Amino acid sequence: MPKITKTAACNCGQVQVSVTGDDKEAVHCYCTNCQRATGSAFAHNHRFIDAELTITKGEDVLKQYADANTDSGNVMYRHFCGNCVRFQNGGVQTDKGCPMFLRSNVVPSFVALHEGSIRGEKTQPVIELYPQDKHAWFGKVTAGERKTTPFPWDPDAK
Ligand SMILES: [Zn+2]
Ligand SMILES: [Zn+2]
Repeated sequence: MPKITKTAACNCGQVQVSVTGDDKEAVHCYCTNCQRATGSAFAHNHRFIDAELTITKGEDVLKQYADANTDSGNVMYRHFCGNCVRFQNGGVQTDKGCPMFLRSNVVPSFVALHEGSIRGEKTQPVIELYPQDKHAWFGKVTAGERKTTPFPWDPDAK
């Protein structure tokens, strides 16, 4: 499996992360928690091994929400910048900025960078999770069928 490097940053630039490691590919997740967490129709998550992730800037700015009320019952630790949306919403402090990455209690070795905050080339998803929650207008986004284990995937699988 090829080692790749990805860097990601939020809108204000105070939080930056870098990962060099095995490319575990990107997925779309349509679960309603991901929709709320991203403010969008899906989360576009690029999966890596957590040990390969480095917070290169803004560890003190980074915030975490333990999202326990999920359909799977898993706790998703949603990491986001605590600064960048602070001055939107008419100047009201929301303390909720760009989603950066997420972890899970089920697979501690797992981390997924949100594709939207990744700099440079974007990666097409290989699988779609929670298709039952996918918006009806949304077409097919994967390039053919893949036999990839959905989350939680086996980190030792090649
Ligand atoms: Zn989800
Ligand atoms: Zn920010």
